[in-house]
Amino acid sequence: MLKKKFSKILIGTNNKGKLREIKGLLPKSIKIFSTSDFNLRSPPENGLTFKENSIIKSKYFSKKSNLVCIADDSGLEIDCLDKKPGIFSARWAGSKGDFNKAIKRVYKELDKKDKNWKFKKIKARFVCALSICYLDKIIASVTGKIEGSISNKIRGKNGFGYDPIFIPKKKRQTFGEMRFSSKCKIDHRSIAFKKIKKFL
Ligand code: IMP
Repeated sequence: MLKKKFSKILIGTNNKGKLREIKGLLPKSIKIFSTSDFNLRSPPENGLTFKENSIIKSKYFSKKSNLVCIADDSGLEIDCLDKKPGIFSARWAGSKGDFNKAIKRVYKELDKKDKNWKFKKIKARFVCALSICYLDKIIASVTGKIEGSISNKIRGKNGFGYDPIFIPKKKRQTFGEMRFSSKCKIDHRSIAFKKIKKFL
């Protein structure tokens, strides 16, 4: 058995969906803190990649709390939109985090690109970079991806963010139609988590 490396960890996110999901992945033996325990706002995400942004968040929250921090940066890449929204996935939802607005923007951009997109397979993937930092030190940084396509209708009320329009490869349901627990077993965050768990 691997020796446990940390007894406490801060989950560096203010997104409730992600917090719930990362909480479910962490070993029960580690005491978990969230950004609300320290009243922390998120830092500006000025990195150019998911990985850079996850490191920015992880270092920032670690320095603010003096705890080891695990943070992710994630988003949806749509191939025919030059991988947009990508690192701007949260920003497409506006300052109020309105994902109806973000999904409308996806549909609008697809309409602009190709009037017939609804009859085609629109390849996309969710990407998640997960980093563990302590103050300025990067303990680990990994990336997980899940391939899939964009549904031409909004389907399902489970999950969060772009879940109602993402159909993972070889499945029929969108993430929004799947049970949250089933989604969490296969998604980009759990794939990244499998790579990082040996550092915990
Ligand atoms: P950020 O990592 O905080 O910049 O946010 C990334 C955005 O991508 C979030 O606001 C999410 O809504 C979206 N996103 C990331 N992971 C998922 C997911 O598992 N399902 C749906 N949307 C996601």
